[in-house]
Amino acid sequence: MTTLFISDLHLDAGRPEIAAQLLAFLKGEAADADALYILGDLFETWVGDDDPNPHFATVKNAIRKLVSRRVPVYFMHGNRDFAIGEQFAEETGVIILPDPYVAELYGENVLLSHGDAYCTDDVQYQTIRKMTRDPAWLAMMLKKPLQERIALAAQSRATSTARASTLNEKITDVNQGAIEQALRKANVDTMLHGHTHRPATHRFTVDGEPASRIVLGDWYEQGSVVRWDKNGPTLSVLKR
Ligand code: MN
Repeated sequence: MTTLFISDLHLDAGRPEIAAQLLAFLKGEAADADALYILGDLFETWVGDDDPNPHFATVKNAIRKLVSRRVPVYFMHGNRDFAIGEQFAEETGVIILPDPYVAELYGENVLLSHGDAYCTDDVQYQTIRKMTRDPAWLAMMLKKPLQERIALAAQSRATSTARASTLNEKITDVNQGAIEQALRKANVDTMLHGHTHRPATHRFTVDGEPASRIVLGDWYEQGSVVRWDKNGPTLSVLKR
């Protein structure tokens, strides 16, 4: 049996082909999986669980259906969909995990994360992250009328896109020291995350011991999945 991991789909009404691929994936191989983990940025923006956007409703229903087939679905917040809350969890049946989270997979402990917390070279981004992950700030935002939240989300997305285009590759990647520190703290030698859209398996050592970091890719041009079974993880492309 296999446990599946995906992240960074960035679902948006403007990119229906990504949702179509996800729906096929949920009905297909995910239906036979031990579990599915969604490691953040499932949605391009999330302005609150009360958003009636029909594009998102279709995805919620498909997740609900998978959960009702007794496949546990775990969700971790990304930097785009950090506002997903309890109502979403109730509607879909997903279990929301803290970031980071140590999962036991076929006898191996693995550190799961969205990944943005380790991009510590981008100091300005970490300041924004700290603000948006503050429960008091989020509660204040969620009290605003839906239309205002939609406008604010569009504005912040435009700002972040413009900003990203000015930064070099190294700044927006994870910091190796931050990764090693996280592995030590969790007392594990393997981690799996998304966010950077740089799918790869990195091998290195921490305090002389072999360690690895698997990075999921985004779903813009094709899907990206990690399949984990008793033999370990395999990072694969999902063609479309
Ligand atoms: Mn992200």
